[in-house]
Amino acid sequence: MGKPTGFMEYPRKTVPYREEIERLGDYGEIYTEPSEDRLKRQGARCMDCGVPFCQSDTGCPIDNLIPEWNDLVYRGRWREAFERLHKTNNFPEFTGRVCPAPCEGACVLGINNPAVTIKNIENAIIDRGFEEGWVQPTIPENRSGKTVAIVGSGPAGLAAAEQLNAADYTVTVYEREDRIGGLLMYGIPNMKLEKKLIDRRVELMRVAGVEFVTGTDIGKDVAPQKLQEDFDAVLFATGATIPRDLPVPGRELNGIHFAMEFLTEHTRSLLDSSLENGNFISAKGKNVVVIGGGDTGTDCIGTALRHDCSSMVNLELMPQPPKDRAADNPWPQWPLIMRTDYGHEESIKKFGADPRCYALVTKEFIDDGNGNVAGLKTMRVKWMNVDGRMQMIEVPGSEQMFDADLVLLAMGFLGPETYISEPLEIDLDGRGNYKAEHGQYETSVPGVFAAGDCRRGQSLVVWGINEGRGAARAIDEYLNGVSILPAPGLTLGTATG
Ligand SMILES: Cc1cc2nc3c(=O)[nH]c(=O)nc-3n(C[C@H](O)[C@H](O)[C@H](O)COP(=O)(O)OP(=O)(O)OC[C@H]3O[C@@H](n4cnc5c(N)ncnc54)[C@H](O)[C@@H]3O)c2cc1C
Ligand code: SF4
Repeated sequence: MGKPTGFMEYPRKTVPYREEIERLGDYGEIYTEPSEDRLKRQGARCMDCGVPFCQSDTGCPIDNLIPEWNDLVYRGRWREAFERLHKTNNFPEFTGRVCPAPCEGACVLGINNPAVTIKNIENAIIDRGFEEGWVQPTIPENRSGKTVAIVGSGPAGLAAAEQLNAADYTVTVYEREDRIGGLLMYGIPNMKLEKKLIDRRVELMRVAGVEFVTGTDIGKDVAPQKLQEDFDAVLFATGATIPRDLPVPGRELNGIHFAMEFLTEHTRSLLDSSLENGNFISAKGKNVVVIGGGDTGTDCIGTALRHDCSSMVNLELMPQPPKDRAADNPWPQWPLIMRTDYGHEESIKKFGADPRCYALVTKEFIDDGNGNVAGLKTMRVKWMNVDGRMQMIEVPGSEQMFDADLVLLAMGFLGPETYISEPLEIDLDGRGNYKAEHGQYETSVPGVFAAGDCRRGQSLVVWGINEGRGAARAIDEYLNGVSILPAPGLTLGTATG
């Protein structure tokens, strides 16, 4: 255990973000360099709980050995902390930056005190690991001769590829986009996760022997049956990419876009040309309305502010969450409380007001007379418990108008596109995802597996890693009878040098 009295002596102190106005001037990461002292004190706050809820149950989905590395960081034993961290997490530099940290929601200290800053510690460990040259590719000495095709290069596909490669399979990852990374690359913006970090990790995997094929759309450029013929097993890790639409009058007007069009084109242009080529939807000088909260909405806000939009409104259908946990949301559940994310902070700083408006439903988009959106009409809603189900009731006379030249729809995703699964007649579950048991991952077609958002629905990077690791183990069992891969315990994916 760190320092037995640490949790009483030191308050929670997170590593701060860069100042809002400064960071709005660029597309660099929002984070500051942590001081070693601060991290050690946070490590010292860890109580090394007999039952570490941070690491299991409602905590970390990949069972990160959190109390162990908290203690090692407190003692300044960074190399060992790094080795512990890499045992369970293939990509801590991604989760250390973007994970909402269910581990902190479940931290026992959180019962009556703010949680240990687990995510900051994780990030600092892996950043040091790269600085020190401890992260090295594991190049298998032998190859089993068996081959696996993975479709999709998000966290689920990448985690599966790394695990399977380390278990001696010959792995090919197919990606329809021009860059590897899935939503790590073209969803989450550079401010939260610099894209060179993804390239760095992909390069390590390439050196370790994973083959990456970009610009190849399976189901369009290559028939999925061809993968079945050419490979011993196939894994779909294609994400939940169908966006939820808002089919109200005026939806066809110019200037109304899905969030992912806006975010993807922005990042592509940023990486290709530092936005010089102009191949993106610009928010400059526009009144922007983002419909939908969540990470996607926040990322649209942060990106539009950096384009220098004129105003920002963020509409949310649900009521404003409470400041503290509600009685029916006790520890160690994920706390459903009001959070002010980086994009909201920046908008408050730039425009002097919180952009978020709660409990509003959009009824109609307004035409400027030339086929462009000029605004939208909303109504206030009340959420009522009717026969045990929450129902939305519109409040009569509560109409409200908002100016808008650019509307971004960030209302979540409905499931995977099925043009890849239809030729194989893969069963879908009741929510339209590929049907496969968690822990088993095999679809209704033998030898074809599914993992990540395409199986579980829209989720988190850390769950993508969990599913990729689990699917790798299931594929290993399918091809080899037994698996040497852990589920989710120790990794064979990355050696230390
Ligand atoms: C804007 C945004 C911000 C987010 N922010 C966060 C965050 O801060 N923290 C967090 O934990 N989670 C966040 N998420 C969620 C997280 O990114 C996803 O849960 C995670 O990336 C899912 O991983 P995946 O590997 O299942 O799929 P994805 O990352 O979606 O990757 C799927 C890949 O498959 C490719 N593909 C699909 N079909 C084909 C085909 N037929 N042929 C070839 N390739 C194909 C796609 O192009 C894509 O690259 C965010 C999501 C969005 C949209
Ligand atoms: S629950 Fe919190 S205090 Fe307990 S071991 Fe985990 S990080 Fe440490």
